[in-house]
Amino acid sequence: MKLEKSLELYTRGKKHLVGAVNSPVRAFKSVGGVPIFIDHAKGSKIYDVDGNEYIDFVLSYGPMILGHRNHYVEKSIKKYLRNGYTFGASTKGEIILAEMVCDVFPGMDKVRFVNSGTEAVLSAIRLARAFTGKDKIIKFAGCYHGHSDALLVAAGSGLATLSIPGSKGVPEDAVKNTLIAEYNNIDSVEKHLAEDNNIAAIIIEPIAGNMGVVLPTKEFIEELKELTKASGVLLIVDEVMTGFRSQFGGAQELLGVVADITCLGKVVGGGFPVGAYGARNEIMEMVSPLGDVYQAGTLSGNPIAMASGIATLKELKKQNPYKDFEKTAAFLERVLLAAAKENGIDVQVNRFGSMLNAFFTKEKVVDFKSAQTSDTKKFKTFFWKMMENGVFLPPSQFESWFLGTAMSKRDMYKVRTAIQISMEAVANKLKK
Ligand SMILES: *Cc1c(COP(=O)(O)O)cnc(C)c1O
Repeated sequence: MKLEKSLELYTRGKKHLVGAVNSPVRAFKSVGGVPIFIDHAKGSKIYDVDGNEYIDFVLSYGPMILGHRNHYVEKSIKKYLRNGYTFGASTKGEIILAEMVCDVFPGMDKVRFVNSGTEAVLSAIRLARAFTGKDKIIKFAGCYHGHSDALLVAAGSGLATLSIPGSKGVPEDAVKNTLIAEYNNIDSVEKHLAEDNNIAAIIIEPIAGNMGVVLPTKEFIEELKELTKASGVLLIVDEVMTGFRSQFGGAQELLGVVADITCLGKVVGGGFPVGAYGARNEIMEMVSPLGDVYQAGTLSGNPIAMASGIATLKELKKQNPYKDFEKTAAFLERVLLAAAKENGIDVQVNRFGSMLNAFFTKEKVVDFKSAQTSDTKKFKTFFWKMMENGVFLPPSQFESWFLGTAMSKRDMYKVRTAIQISMEAVANKLKK
């Protein structure tokens, strides 16, 4: 596989961009080799600057659920471009997207649009603290909620379960109010609640996607619901990844959960920078200008981004791809497990709706600890063989693969062949 032009750009980019990227995962650090630079994309395919074609399972880490350059979305964006780009005053698009979002999430009477998932979550935490008058939050090891200081603890890598910053530059003081619990372990939540009465909120990825895909058990979710209700602690459901992806109504619809505060991002902007947080009136009315919780943004609710979000959600609702996603994911699971078995490789496939991934481990993956038992060297071999065979997976063992509506049956047969070849390559590497 030729990656000469990517290498050239990577080398050039390193001079004035940190690691030649604007988000670390794009540097391919955990799989090594040359990070690809993209030229363009269309439908299910993405093309790098060397002209290599890949079926795209990254989909920009989720937003491009309709595939690239969906006709209807593009038409709408172009139409709005003609009106201007940003105004510093409100537009109708913001109201329309707000109506669409609140219609889907029963816990949301009002919503505030921001520019990223990170911003949505940090604002939701501020709001939860204001509403409850309490300071602490509980987060789960391995869940990622963006890069704000208080949430960079046990955020999918590094130090597992201590309240120690997961990044340099985050003062101990900034994380001292963040308590860590274990995913799928309700005792670890109960313990914090029993020991501390200064807890404002529990924040969770309803389907974890940032330690690889990890599903919550039914009991865990039920108990979490009961615990938060009984203790008056707010439940913040971070649906930045799962919103409109696992189901039109997000993971909450499937799990039967109504969050106190919901966070959105990724799909809701259809490829443009949009995040959102929303809740019932009583909570949202504390946000400025109605209340005293300050939160603002020069480009928040940007008209082009709103147009992209509106068109994406409309098209998704029309296509209603969720049953097909389920079938495709089941097909890929069968292929992965069969290829692994044939080659004597231990693999766990976790999946939910249009999110899936294969962990190279013998252990069932139910939390951060078990995810960590994965053999990342095997993943590295698998990843590059998949690339060679025209499939772009996220370059890390601990990222979800994403399905999109533009993927065809033919694409999936190609992926099947790639998986078979790549699993064999993993086995051959072991023999050496
Ligand atoms: C991606 C993600 C975020 C952060 O969103 P950004 O737009 O990257 O800031 C937060 N929470 C979850 C669950 C995510 O998957």
